[in-house]
Amino acid sequence: MTGTIGSTVLGYPRIGPRRELKRALESCWAGRSSEVELRETARNLRIDTWRRLRDAGLDSVPGNTFSYYDQVLDTAVTFGAVPKRYAELGLGSLGTYFAMARGADAVPPLEMTKWFDTNYHYLVPEIGPGTTFSLADRTPVEQYREALEAGVTTRPVLVGPLTFLLLAKSTAGESFRPLDKLPELLGAYAELLRELHRAGVEWVQLDEPAFAADRTPDQLQALGDAYRQLGGLSARPKLLVAGYFGDFTEALRVLAGTPVEALGADLVTDPSTVDSLSGVPGLRDKTLVAGLVDGRNIWRTDLDRALTTAATLLGLAGEVAVSTSCSLLHVPYDVEVEDIDPQVKSWLAFAEQKVHEVVVLGRALRDGRDAVTDELSAAREAVADRAGATRVRNNRVRARLESLRPEHSQRGDYQERRAAQQKSLQLPPLPTTTIGSFPQTTDVRKARAAFQSGRIDRASYQQRMRDEIKRVIELQESIGLDVLVHGEPERNDMVQYFAEHLDGFISTANGWVQSYGSRCVRPPILYGDVHRPEPMTVEWATYAQKLTAKPVKGMLTGPVTILAWSFVRDDQPLADTAAQVAMAIRDEVQDLEAAGIRVIQVDEPALRELLPLRAAQRAAYLEWAVSAFRLATSGVSDSTQIHTHLCYSEFGDVIDAIVALDADVTSIEAARSRMEVLDDLNAVGFGRGVGPGVYDIHSPRVPDAAEVTDLLRAALRAVPADRLWVNPDCGLKTRGYAEVEPALENLVSAAEAVRRDLP
Ligand code: GLN
Ligand code: ZN
Repeated sequence: MTGTIGSTVLGYPRIGPRRELKRALESCWAGRSSEVELRETARNLRIDTWRRLRDAGLDSVPGNTFSYYDQVLDTAVTFGAVPKRYAELGLGSLGTYFAMARGADAVPPLEMTKWFDTNYHYLVPEIGPGTTFSLADRTPVEQYREALEAGVTTRPVLVGPLTFLLLAKSTAGESFRPLDKLPELLGAYAELLRELHRAGVEWVQLDEPAFAADRTPDQLQALGDAYRQLGGLSARPKLLVAGYFGDFTEALRVLAGTPVEALGADLVTDPSTVDSLSGVPGLRDKTLVAGLVDGRNIWRTDLDRALTTAATLLGLAGEVAVSTSCSLLHVPYDVEVEDIDPQVKSWLAFAEQKVHEVVVLGRALRDGRDAVTDELSAAREAVADRAGATRVRNNRVRARLESLRPEHSQRGDYQERRAAQQKSLQLPPLPTTTIGSFPQTTDVRKARAAFQSGRIDRASYQQRMRDEIKRVIELQESIGLDVLVHGEPERNDMVQYFAEHLDGFISTANGWVQSYGSRCVRPPILYGDVHRPEPMTVEWATYAQKLTAKPVKGMLTGPVTILAWSFVRDDQPLADTAAQVAMAIRDEVQDLEAAGIRVIQVDEPALRELLPLRAAQRAAYLEWAVSAFRLATSGVSDSTQIHTHLCYSEFGDVIDAIVALDADVTSIEAARSRMEVLDDLNAVGFGRGVGPGVYDIHSPRVPDAAEVTDLLRAALRAVPADRLWVNPDCGLKTRGYAEVEPALENLVSAAEAVRRDLP
């Protein structure tokens, strides 16, 4: 169909159905294959994707959704925003690109951070007063031509100019806002649009998800001005501006007054968006690209309900097209390849299946429901089966949650807890510890894989893990750490391990989702009421504790992090699911205590990640997140010490919540911010134990003792010695022993040196 969008998806995974791009990238980076081979793999993946999407029946196929690393980095390169330190390396185009993504020699990479509230990470562009924009790279045009040669007409997708600048970081501090560069950047976008037009492109999609978050009136004004300008170009493709991850209505109100032809809205994340659309004047003159199929979660769409929504929209917009709520980048490729429980499988839709859903909805809108009766009834059956399935509900779990009272989430007075813990643990001032994991050696990984595939039996697997735990305990003893850990060798991943041991979760074999660059994760699927059939970690922790007189810390993942890194159910509020997970963790905490474990850490590195994009929704989120943590950790006596761990230091928005967690000890990243986090914590009256990370585990560099000593002295200016803990800033899983041993030795000698100076 020409002229209209009809049915489409906003974007598609690109790592490859078998992670072909991951392999090709890593082999090229390691020098095992050439850039030519990498380009060839990439080209085949693109062509395969375009053809698949066309053959599936989409009316409009998205283009330019491929990336060697990240779409924000691509945008920076397209418009020439390459910082001098990379350009000067004199590498080829792909070499410069990878240097920005991964660093090169002495040049560190661009900063990386999370893409809105997803677990995808983008590279943060650096923009300063001196940045000049130009159309420096023509990949979007080239890929349009490449698709055309392969027989597919595509709709190039670009990160929109406002979102690009709003995500960028100023190289000149507070005095400069990257958004001030908008007029210049628009000139470069205009040039690209003109070239795309000359190449024959009919539609271009510009993504502006930054406007699904809170924006100032100035920023909204800038949005309107920008699209009036781009829309006013005399020779240009038609424009679709899409926003997602939340309610985009505010931006739509502005955009409806500009010449852009189509507007995309996410109708899944915030279902009230459908109602607010009726208040958008000017929508009648536009095509509304309705995001009816969830692009971020893996449930089959209730097609009847989606069609009802679409019917409402027909009265509001000039034309309605059907789409996913956001790019399908955030879901795995294909559920058909999974060998999982057939009932649960019938409830799921991955990227391929979602494309099909969009096509069916598009056909129903165009030709009437009768054209797709079979598809609609299949979807209806699956949705009804899931809603009525007994395995989704566990009445015992529900009854336990109903019976909870406030005291279940309340520990005793902190000063009393502290005294009881000191009596039980007898720790020196500035106790030393680690965050949990020790290096995952090839041997450990091999043993886990061998057990998984049945090549070794449970008994020999257990023996290998015990040997590893013993080694790690002995190492910590010899280094002289105070609170030991078992090292987490049995865990492939801190969320998946628990998902595999809890009822209500299912794990996939190939459900990979890109996290950043070539890195993929395989989020477990949380489909039903969560229940812990038996203890999950007690055996490992008690084995470790038997080997030493020093306290061994039990290690658990917190409820919020388990939710953040899983696909969660959409049939009940997240708060309810969090409470169920919390209950399972609480059982584990209590079992650890009963087995003689006196220190228990419940990690919540994702507490900030799930923070809603809109400020108005944050208090409600933080309230249930904190309640879940407290429910998980309040079932123990005063003498049991609860630790938590957070992976970041910019916690402005969640700092009160961190206080409210009521953990006895909180470890946080701080090495890179020179202990400034402590002042932030003091400012809100945080008065419990704190372990600011004294060395950065993200780098292979080994800190020397003097450097750690300096950091500890700096920390002591903000926190008294009896509340200060000494630890690295995260788990040691990704490092090697060659770095970890000397680093921990230096950490211990620094703590000893500082202790000697204490009055
Ligand atoms: N306990 C985990 C570990 O040490 C924590 C990891 C994390 O914070 N992401 O690996
Ligand atoms: Zn961490």
